[in-house]
Amino acid sequence: MSEEKSVSDMILEKDTKGLSEHMKKGIKNYLQSDQYATFLKAMGKLHNYSPKNIQLLLSQNKNISMVAGFNTWKKDFQRTVNKGEKSLKIWMPFTVKQKDENGKIKLDDQGKPITFTGFKLGSVFDVSQTNGKDIPKALYELSETKEDYQDLYRSLRATLQESQIDIEWKNLPEAKGYYSPTENKIVLKSGLSSTHTIKTILHEMAHSRLHKDGSFDKLSEAYKLQELQAESIAYVVSNHFGIDTGAYSFGYLASWSDDKKGLSDFESQLSIIQSEAKKIIDTVDAKLEKIKEKGTIENTFENKFSSFKQSKTDKEVGNNLSQNLGKANGL
Ligand SMILES: [Zn+2]
Repeated sequence: MSEEKSVSDMILEKDTKGLSEHMKKGIKNYLQSDQYATFLKAMGKLHNYSPKNIQLLLSQNKNISMVAGFNTWKKDFQRTVNKGEKSLKIWMPFTVKQKDENGKIKLDDQGKPITFTGFKLGSVFDVSQTNGKDIPKALYELSETKEDYQDLYRSLRATLQESQIDIEWKNLPEAKGYYSPTENKIVLKSGLSSTHTIKTILHEMAHSRLHKDGSFDKLSEAYKLQELQAESIAYVVSNHFGIDTGAYSFGYLASWSDDKKGLSDFESQLSIIQSEAKKIIDTVDAKLEKIKEKGTIENTFENKFSSFKQSKTDKEVGNNLSQNLGKANGL
């Protein structure tokens, strides 16, 4: 029986226990480098979802890109789900109040109900299953223009500055860059391409956030694990911003054991990667938005200015121009 079929069968039968077991076993597929890359790519698009949900969504649709519930598509995006589309299932948390043998709600020391969180299957749809108003291009979908790279670079630098981390450029013989915890700075190799600059900053940024007290012994397991984390986080975030992620290596994956303990270790790795990537994405997104907004105000002024130049042909044009330029300098 193929993987997809058994997943959809279990969904159909609402066999959440079986499904959960199945996904646990399925996690070892991601120990293969190419499948792992697919998984991280999806994480870049669905950075608000848990690794478990990304795995579940991918098992139902390999090209998943943006999902939302039926009503969210309608209300927030003015899009409707196409007739006959089958919903995709995700795990949704729900809270239950604990009860004693007599059916009375159990209370804690402070008199508050004791609750626990369970998970049930809920329904979402991929954007490809919907129709309606165009989805506004997300700010973070960057083009490969110099301006977009510069904006992203500035956003990354501003994010690092929050932790007092400086970027320095040097003639490094080998590595593309490194993070120095003692000096709290990221050093980049002079002459890197824009893509490599962004990818290297993201990789070193991940080290600066997770491995301040990390291992520097290149042969140790700890060091290899740090590399896997940094490389994976850089991969997820790069994909989120539409940066080409061609040459990446996840070498350490191959040495991961697929026994039970190994796999639960691996699952906790995915959680660390997802949660750190999400934090970076949210922070950089906010910075990027600010930078772009400022750019829009300047552009709007320039647009007004140029249409003004075109429409006015009378003698007063010179006076108006200098008045406007005065305003422009004040901006
Ligand atoms: Zn590294």
